[in-house]
Amino acid sequence: MRDSKMGTRSIWAGERDYLAFGATQVPVVHSVSYGYEDMDEWYEVAIGNKKGHIYGRNTNPTVEAFEEKIRNLEDADAVTSFSTGMAAISNTLDTLLFPGDRIVSIKDTYGGTNKIFTEFLPKKKVEVVLCDTGDHEALEKEVEKGCKVLYLETPTNPTVKITDIERMAKAGKKVGATVIVDNTFATPINQNPLALGADLVIHSATKFLGGHADALGGAVCGSKDLVEAIYHYREINGATMDPMAAYLLLRGMKTLKLRIDKQNENALAIAKYLKTVDVVEDVFYPGLEEHIGHDIAKKQMRGFGGMLSFSVKGGMDTVRHFLPKLQFANRAANLGAVETIVGPARTTSHVECTPEERAAMGIPEGLIRYSAGIEDIEDLIGDLDQAFQSLPSKL
Ligand SMILES: *Cc1c(COP(=O)(O)O)cnc(C)c1O
Repeated sequence: MRDSKMGTRSIWAGERDYLAFGATQVPVVHSVSYGYEDMDEWYEVAIGNKKGHIYGRNTNPTVEAFEEKIRNLEDADAVTSFSTGMAAISNTLDTLLFPGDRIVSIKDTYGGTNKIFTEFLPKKKVEVVLCDTGDHEALEKEVEKGCKVLYLETPTNPTVKITDIERMAKAGKKVGATVIVDNTFATPINQNPLALGADLVIHSATKFLGGHADALGGAVCGSKDLVEAIYHYREINGATMDPMAAYLLLRGMKTLKLRIDKQNENALAIAKYLKTVDVVEDVFYPGLEEHIGHDIAKKQMRGFGGMLSFSVKGGMDTVRHFLPKLQFANRAANLGAVETIVGPARTTSHVECTPEERAAMGIPEGLIRYSAGIEDIEDLIGDLDQAFQSLPSKL
């Protein structure tokens, strides 16, 4: 399987071992527990000496098939899954960090992750250092002082900033830090952080992996030792993925390569189009040569992703007129679905932050986040064009 290409793996990885009754599709196993006639076999499975299932909070065959697919796509030794992406992030950090520990990260992480850094970890007496996103020297300096975890996300939400994973993984290794990368925006089709030196890669499967905005989930991939410890925390604390969600995510992932290729293509075309629009102030997309992270993105990504953002003249007043005019876009908080999704950053990725916090992160109140879907590009650009043309001239 590992010799196969990503499109083939998206379809076949993790499927065969979980088929039953000659079915060609993985079943949704809704059973909470698993029965045994043989007391010794039950015991062997319970203590982990023999493969099998005991109780749904620990493992489930449908969930395992999902895990196998993402593990394969990230070329990881081990994987575990979660009820949501945030559960994956919080359970991982809870497993690794204790009072007195230090974590280094960036200012532009996902809003929920940023809340863990600014609200919850300090209460647990974990020292959190957040550097300007993209300032590699500042990150290296802070990492050199020593840290238990170096936590990265690239590209970031919503201004799609890029961090050099290979360079930062080297810095982390030197001080014995566990290097974590949230790979939600890139997906394994565009970027494999483990191959670049990271220890753990985290996904919100809710976004591009599932791709249909109908199921929540998260995953963590990495070495056996690390993942086993995180799995153990999750099996006890209970943020388990639901089998139905696992089925939906598994089905969505079969088209991952097709979707991401199309979303990469659409996002680049839209970014280029937006550059030509008068009312657009700034366009943020790592596929644009003028983007500050372009060279690093080119080095570590196979495609630049489906996410971009842009700011408009007139701020929120323009946004209020513009967004409701779009015909082929959901105005919603999620991203990474087959449909195009738009929203102001202040209402979506960074709704947890105050206006002051957003300003400090370089997020203008009128910034629009755009998650390119898989629609025909002519229709998406035509739609944006008519919405821009409908703006009142006084704005
Ligand atoms: C959405 C998102 C998360 C959180 O995932 P949920 O499934 O909503 O909990 C984490 N990181 C990134 C980059 C995200 O976009």
